[in-house]
Amino acid sequence: MKRLANLPPRTKRILFSVLLAFLLVFPFLDTGQANIDIAANCAAYAALALGLNIVVGFTGLLDLGYAAFFAIGAYAYGILNSYQLHPAWSNGWAPLAAIGFVAKLGAGAAATVHFTFPFWVMLPVSAVIAAGFGVAFGAPTLRLKGDYLAIVTLGFGEIVPIVVRNWSSLTNGAEGLNGVAPPSVFGHSFGIDSTPYYYVGLGIVLLLLFISQRLKPSRIGRAWMAIREDEIAAGAMGIHTTRLKLLAFAMGAGFAGLTGTFYIAKLQTATPDMFDLPVSIMVLVMIVLGGLGSVWGAIIGAVLLQLLQAWFLPELSAMVQALGNAVHSPFLSNLELTSASELIFGIILVTMMLYRRDGIVPASRNEVRLSFAQQDAAVSRGSLPAVERLSRASAQAAAAGAPAALAVRDLTVKFGGLTALKSVSLDVPAGGIVAVIGPNGSGKSTLFNSITGLVTPSGGSIDFAGHELIGQRPDQILRYGVARTFQNIRLFPNLTVMENVLIGQHTHLKAGPAGIVLGLGGVRAEEREAREFVLELLAMFGNRLIPRIDQGVAQLSYANRRRVEIARALATRPRLLMLDEPTAGMNPAESLELAEQIAGFRDLGLTVLLVEHKLDVVTRLADNVIVLDYGEKLAEGPADVVRRDEAVIEAYIGRGAVNA
Ligand code: ADP
Ligand code: MG
Repeated sequence: MKRLANLPPRTKRILFSVLLAFLLVFPFLDTGQANIDIAANCAAYAALALGLNIVVGFTGLLDLGYAAFFAIGAYAYGILNSYQLHPAWSNGWAPLAAIGFVAKLGAGAAATVHFTFPFWVMLPVSAVIAAGFGVAFGAPTLRLKGDYLAIVTLGFGEIVPIVVRNWSSLTNGAEGLNGVAPPSVFGHSFGIDSTPYYYVGLGIVLLLLFISQRLKPSRIGRAWMAIREDEIAAGAMGIHTTRLKLLAFAMGAGFAGLTGTFYIAKLQTATPDMFDLPVSIMVLVMIVLGGLGSVWGAIIGAVLLQLLQAWFLPELSAMVQALGNAVHSPFLSNLELTSASELIFGIILVTMMLYRRDGIVPASRNEVRLSFAQQDAAVSRGSLPAVERLSRASAQAAAAGAPAALAVRDLTVKFGGLTALKSVSLDVPAGGIVAVIGPNGSGKSTLFNSITGLVTPSGGSIDFAGHELIGQRPDQILRYGVARTFQNIRLFPNLTVMENVLIGQHTHLKAGPAGIVLGLGGVRAEEREAREFVLELLAMFGNRLIPRIDQGVAQLSYANRRRVEIARALATRPRLLMLDEPTAGMNPAESLELAEQIAGFRDLGLTVLLVEHKLDVVTRLADNVIVLDYGEKLAEGPADVVRRDEAVIEAYIGRGAVNA
């Protein structure tokens, strides 16, 4: 299955066509209504799995109450196309009656309204209603992370069926809605024939598959995956994390709402227990089984589990019972395996976690090793296009606004009782390179975190190009032109080099969900250009990264990961680039190579703020050095002066060294 993902596109297309042809003729193979019905249910669950895959698989938001949105879509149609509600007729209903959305029952004063909203209208409308609930529920809760979010969604998933059970006037309570109308086409009702439902289900899955496939390798899909991989780094790359999480939640809910309408139209009844917790868990197991984040995996997982439940377990039960009758074992003859399906799901989940965490179709590709030819691929260093683009970007920004100068004044940061920074002031002039040095724990990274909005200082001010940065969200700060790398490298580990650097361009791309799904020309052109820019940027590091462009970053060497992180920061087209110990973990030759490249960034018009331990690198690069010790500024000046400063030597090496 891992191989399947790596097949050439042509082969994939042929396989897909063969599969589609089979699915189209399936009802004519005369396997019986029951099998067609099972296939239609497989489609419904595949659609649900595709929706949950956006929430959990792409974006990493553990949602344990997904079936709630399924219920909302189901009841939206169920209530609006059944006899459940029958308000008294008044002429206000006449316009709806004219377009066939309601009908008048009876005559005179006793006349009532019969809701007959067409199925085809309710499919998209239910999706929108469920998405609306997704937004309403997500807006206050998506700030929560991990376990907390799981608990809140679990609660939501419990509440919706409870409301449905108790709001009898609207839902007919536990007895369920009855007489939900089946869809019809040109006046022909689908009735209880499984075949038309099968085709509608197939159509829905194809549509949702298409949407998922388009979104995944887009600006939005990458932003979702960035949030899943490292939410802090995603914010630092300019992604408005709350908004994108909400979009994922709404979209997943929309898929579920649409599927709910389909499912209920097929059954022509709806009861609250069709949407209880086990359904949410089952859909979750489907996508874990298929491979979290894998679009085809979601479909395969859903089909497999649905077949297991609807076909394999009953068959197996019948066989076991027959065996029980033959050997006169009452235990075996009464064994009902279908009622143990939740236990079986649990076993599947545990087994997958133990032996194949990536699922049947793993979402992240693990590229094979490089050939010698690839490793030797010579690329000229300092590729001109990237240099040009970056310097053009900074020239434009400089012309448009205040100079890219950073001014930190009296910055104080407290962590409980610990004061990590005490009234620190420093300046980074536009176009300058300033280095911050100091022993471990002296507050260097805290300074970086304060500037980029990850830590809220308790006092002081940080001005960048006329913007006060304190109190701003990280993605907003990035939009002002401040990009950074992290001391402990925060790449998106399961994404490729290309994807990581593309995410750096998030704020410069404009594609929205509709443009992406429709594949508009502008979106495609923008994407092509973004990829070209990545290649140009990576060429700045010679052939170190270019041959590894499709490798997962987790497979790269430490030094290469640092380079990718710098390329990702450059891709944001920053005005101020902040590097936290960029040469840590590099050997002396690599450190000097990088120092040379950083010196080149100045020629691009960038301002650089750098935390660095290696004094030769600092001496080579920095116009000005700021020494921190215990959160206080100990010294400041040109590198060779600071280097001889007694207080600095003492802070670095200890008191004895000064006298020696
Ligand atoms: P440096 O980068 O100079 O090595 P840091 O800025 O990482 O130092 O840390 C400065 C001090 O602040 C250290 O004592 C560290 O333990 C503390 N510190 C940093 N971040 C946090 C945090 N999020 N919570 C509590 N203490 C922190
Ligand atoms: Mg640090």
